[in-house]
Amino acid sequence: MSTSVNTVTTNRPFSSEEVIFPAKIDLLGMDYAGLVDFFAKMGEKPFRAGQVMKWIHQFGVSDFNDMTNLSKALRQKLMDSAVIRTPKIVSEQRSNDGTIKWLLEVDHHNCVEAVFIPEKSRGTLCISSQVGCALECSFCSTGQQGFNRNLENWEIVAQMWVANKALGCQPKEDRVISNVVFMGMGEPLLNVTHTFPAARILMDDHGYGLSKRRVTISTAGVVPAIDKIKAALDVSLAISLHAPNNELRNRLVPINQKYPLEVLMPALHRYVEGGYSKKHVTVEYVMLDQVNDRVEHAHQLVALLGDLACKVNLIPFNPFPNAPYQRSSNNAVHRFQDVLMAGGINCTVRKTRGDDIDAACGQLAGKVKDRTKRTLQTVNLDQLNG
Ligand code: SAH
Repeated sequence: MSTSVNTVTTNRPFSSEEVIFPAKIDLLGMDYAGLVDFFAKMGEKPFRAGQVMKWIHQFGVSDFNDMTNLSKALRQKLMDSAVIRTPKIVSEQRSNDGTIKWLLEVDHHNCVEAVFIPEKSRGTLCISSQVGCALECSFCSTGQQGFNRNLENWEIVAQMWVANKALGCQPKEDRVISNVVFMGMGEPLLNVTHTFPAARILMDDHGYGLSKRRVTISTAGVVPAIDKIKAALDVSLAISLHAPNNELRNRLVPINQKYPLEVLMPALHRYVEGGYSKKHVTVEYVMLDQVNDRVEHAHQLVALLGDLACKVNLIPFNPFPNAPYQRSSNNAVHRFQDVLMAGGINCTVRKTRGDDIDAACGQLAGKVKDRTKRTLQTVNLDQLNG
């Protein structure tokens, strides 16, 4: 399949602004409220916030000189005090099926990946929230790579900025990226300080204007942060469940040892109940041959989910080098789906996309240099969850 892969390598340097004036305020990762505040401190009117956000996010502009509805004096003031940081695009790979993967350099040691998946009725961008991941889920390539650090607001938003620009910055009605999922590298709920403002920019009408149903935060089950989401922002939630009992989940998703199912499931119920609008949770379940894909597991899952407002997405396992698992057979997947449906649970099977460029779920490894291999035991999860 490798002959079908089209790799484009560019060498765009970091903006010289950033190198010369590292203390300047970054506007790419600033949400609307932050920008209103920023302009107020400059003695400027609040509507400037909306104007500048539109230039950055809707028109893909990173040079204040191109913001032609601002006076020259204001553009100069902005150049003196602020910067729009953008990452270096290390590579852009295009799959046979239209999937595109970007490798972005966020600092001189770290790269993250973002993936665009076009479908008939929508275009989904899968973005990363951390460099690597500390959770060590045994079926996930990112988890096997170790953890480097949390991404900052601008580094999360930059993935959308780059993808949107590469896809032509279409106006709202013709937009190519209609959905964003935090299902790339990292655990977004161990980085709420930066993922929440980034999600706000994605949903802001001055930003990318995505509907709250089309921005999904996916978590392995960081319970305290699940409770924080509801108060902080209105987005969709996906839970990477992957096992219907603690014994199995402890092995597949080790954070289950800290927040076991009897703690996680009530948190999911709290999330859907009394939300701003009618909510449900998407339950992700990776299908591992002979590990979690038996009929008895499906029955256990029906019992565990009970009356939770949810839909289940079965994900065929995507292999990576030295992976200790195999993909479940199609028969096993459909047998599992039948049991769930018979139990009254809406259940779909995810189509694997972009596997010829290692862009499928769980294959994002970032090809990052200088990683610090840390383990769940040595990373203080509460500290990370700033
Ligand atoms: N930490 C977050 C987000 C990143 S993982 C979380 O756990 O939800 C997002 C999803 O990638 C996981 O739910 C899982 O469904 C999927 N995934 C990880 N490794 C995979 C693999 N090897 N094959 C298929 N899906 C995988």
